[in-house]
This record gives sequence, structure tokens and C-alpha cells, in this order.
Amino acid sequence: MTERVRVAVIGGGPAGLTAAAALAPSVAGDVLVLEREVETGGIPRHSDHPGYGLRDLRRFMSGPEYARRLTGSAREAGARLETEAMVTGWAGPRTLEVTSPRGRRLVEADAVVLATGARERPRPARLIAGDRPDGVYTTGQLQNLVHLHHREVGRRAVIVGAELVSWSAVLTLHEAGCRTVLMTSEYDKPEAYTAFRVPGRLAFGVLVRARTRVVAIHGKGRVTSVEIENLDTGQRHRVPCDTVITTGDWIPDHELARAAGLDLDEGTRGPRVDTSLATSVPGVFAAGNLLHPVDTADVAALDGRHVAAAVLGHLAGEPAPGGGVPLVAEAPLRWVAPQLVRPGGPPPSRGKLLLWSDAFRTLPRVTATQDGRVLGRARLPWPAAPGRVFRVPYSLVAGADPAGGPVRLTLA
Ligand SMILES: Cc1cc2nc3c(=O)[nH]c(=O)nc-3n(C[C@H](O)[C@H](O)[C@H](O)COP(=O)(O)OP(=O)(O)OC[C@H]3O[C@@H](n4cnc5c(N)ncnc54)[C@H](O)[C@@H]3O)c2cc1C
Repeated sequence: MTERVRVAVIGGGPAGLTAAAALAPSVAGDVLVLEREVETGGIPRHSDHPGYGLRDLRRFMSGPEYARRLTGSAREAGARLETEAMVTGWAGPRTLEVTSPRGRRLVEADAVVLATGARERPRPARLIAGDRPDGVYTTGQLQNLVHLHHREVGRRAVIVGAELVSWSAVLTLHEAGCRTVLMTSEYDKPEAYTAFRVPGRLAFGVLVRARTRVVAIHGKGRVTSVEIENLDTGQRHRVPCDTVITTGDWIPDHELARAAGLDLDEGTRGPRVDTSLATSVPGVFAAGNLLHPVDTADVAALDGRHVAAAVLGHLAGEPAPGGGVPLVAEAPLRWVAPQLVRPGGPPPSRGKLLLWSDAFRTLPRVTATQDGRVLGRARLPWPAAPGRVFRVPYSLVAGADPAGGPVRLTLA
């Protein structure tokens, strides 16, 4: 069976729901959101603490409340939300293979928005040696267990990573009656803002150790300890614990993008997009953390709002713009999103380029050059730090020569 819709949105998280809410009132025909989970809302659904909705809704709310709010808005706007519906592949450039308890079918769309999000690399992908006991989770798995399935975790946890999401794990562990005894970071200092770190440490008594890593997990059946290595001295010691949380270290949920043969970016590993969020296949767009693993939910949601203009343009028969100048992030920058600028084209969402830095800079200076010519330079008042997105004004690259070579972004 093949169903025809005007727009198919894959993923019912903040990006997908907001794209659907923005599109449904302006599209004649179905805007269908396909979500594999039993409810829409994405990660915020099980991230049960405040910190959501600031930039998009101008509110400060909990994850579950935010998820409900975005779900309600998409529905009220006229979008159709189908849950327990997993897109497993493609039967054509914009024809999706969908599997659900109602059976398997094809969904053919005039436009597709990929909004499948990102996930944390689990323990096996981080190559942490040792035994294979129970009690090792990513933050996402932990929050799912605690908030959605009301399951117990242990009593003493070690957290691998010290970024913002690591503190989200501390909150969940605390709620589940589990003390965080240690947080490790391989960087020179922990990645999260001081405003999180200091109160977090005071409130929960968490010991945070920079320049350390977990090299082995021990325990038969259940975790009993981890082995910590000091990266400067090479010294190792054991820390008794019954729970290990691997946090951050993101990978986009890019399987469908790869299966579609979309151009992928080596840095983000998500689809390469231009500033309108169009991918390399006409009529296929992308939004949210699939493009920038990982920023906050409101930024993902605002991507969803931003992508609507390009989707509507495509539905109105506007040809896909060709050409474009690639953006290249140079070390210590790991990636930039979007990766393609078209001089004269629209600015990116919020007029910002999103970058990821592997090094700390307190007052960072970013320079954009094209063919050896400086296009723009700015000293920014906010820091660049590992473990969180670093935002740079688009004006730095807006004057790129459409006939010139790639624009290189450097950080000093
Ligand atoms: C532990 C944790 C704490 C966080 N805390 C905060 C915070 O306090 N404030 C904040 O602003 N942000 C926070 N974030 C970040 C925020 O959750 C994300 O930025 C946001 O959820 C990204 O939205 P998204 O729509 O891009 O992706 P997601 O929320 O990941 O949604 C993607 C959706 O796509 C679905 N999907 C994927 N593949 C398929 C498929 N093939 N078929 C059908 N459906 C599919 C998934 O099931 C999912 O529902 C936190 C993240 C984590 C992990």
C-alpha cells in the first residue's frame, strides 16, 4: 500500500514537531509526522528537569512539559502525528518505507524533512575495556529507565564526561537515590559552564576530575568498580561504584540520511545542508540535532521553524538552488553547520553558524578566509569550549565570493 502526503516529517522531537506546526497551516494536503516511539516529544519527554523552551517559546519549563506543548501545537496546527511508526528505508527519492504495529507501507511525499536527532555513543563505541556487567548506561538510557519505566538504578555512580548533559545525568541519578561519586573529563577542565559546575558540585557533592578517563569497568553481573587513569601521569586507581553513565560524545541518527545517499559532512556526520537546511537531494530537508550533534532543544525547534520556508518554496515549484560555497572548520574546530553558503541566499536559522570546538578559548577570535583573503573576523564575548555548541555570527561569511573556493573558519 502506498500513501501520498504533501510533507513527511521523520522524527517527532522538537525539530520535527516545530517544522510540522510551521508547515501544516500553509500546506494544502497532509503534513505527516512519523515517530518510532509511543509518544512524540523526542528526548525532552524523558529529560525530567527544567531548562527547556527559552529561545523558541520564551519560557522555562521541564522537558516533559515542553514535549507536551510542542506536540499540542503541531496537532492544533493540523499536522497528523503517527507514533510507533518507524521509517526503515527509502523506496524512491521521497518515498519512505514505514513499519508500525498497523503493518508495513510506503509513504510518498512531495517533501521530506529529516529530524531524527542524535544519540550518545554507548560504551562499546568508546572502546572501554573490562567486564560486561549490568549498570552501564548513556544519559538517554538512564533517563528512559528512571522517568519512563520507573526502574531502579544503583547507589554509587561514576559519570564519564563533564558536559551539560552529564549534569542532567547527576539530577536524574539523585532523583533515583543514586549518588554521583565521580565525574571524569579528558579535557584540561570540565566542559560545562561554571554556572552549572559550581552549584552542581556544591549541591550534590560531586567530585569532578579533569584529565582523567575510565579505562576499564569491572564486575560480574553488576558493576563493582571502574579503573581511572590520570592522563598526565598514567597512574591508575580503582573507584568502587555500581553504576556507570557515559555522557555526551554525540553521533547523529543518520542511518536514513546515509541510506538515501545524501551528501554527508565528515565533521558532524549528519547531512550536509545549506543555510535554508536543504540537503543534496531536491525536496529532502533536515533540521535539529541530526545536523549539529548536539545543541539545545530550542535551537533544534527553531531549525524546524526555519526549514519551513525552504519546504514551502520547494512545494511551490521553486527550483533547488545550485552551487554554493563550502564552509570548512579547521582544528581545533571539529565541525560547522550549515556547511554550504549561497551568497545572496537566506541567512541560517537565528543568523548563526554553529561550530564545535575541541579546545577552550575564553575570548575566542574567529577568522573566515577565502582563497587567502580575510572575509570576516570577530572576537566573541562568549567562550568556545568542548562539549557544547559555539555560535558565530553568519555575517563573517556572508560576503563570500560565489565563484571562489571554500571558506575556512579558524579559531584563535
Ligand atoms: C540527557 C539530556 C538532557 C538535556 N537537557 C536539555 C535541557 O535542559 N535543555 C535543552 O534545551 N536541551 C536539552 N537537551 C538537548 C535536547 O534534548 C535536544 O537538543 C533535542 O531533543 C533535539 O531535538 P531533535 O528534534 O533534533 O531530536 P530528538 O529530540 O532526538 O528527536 C528525534 C526523534 O526522532 C525519532 N526518530 C529517529 N529516527 C526515526 C525513524 N527512523 N523513524 C521514526 N522516528 C525516528 C526519535 O524517536 C525521536 O523522537 C538534553 C539532551 C539530553 C540527552
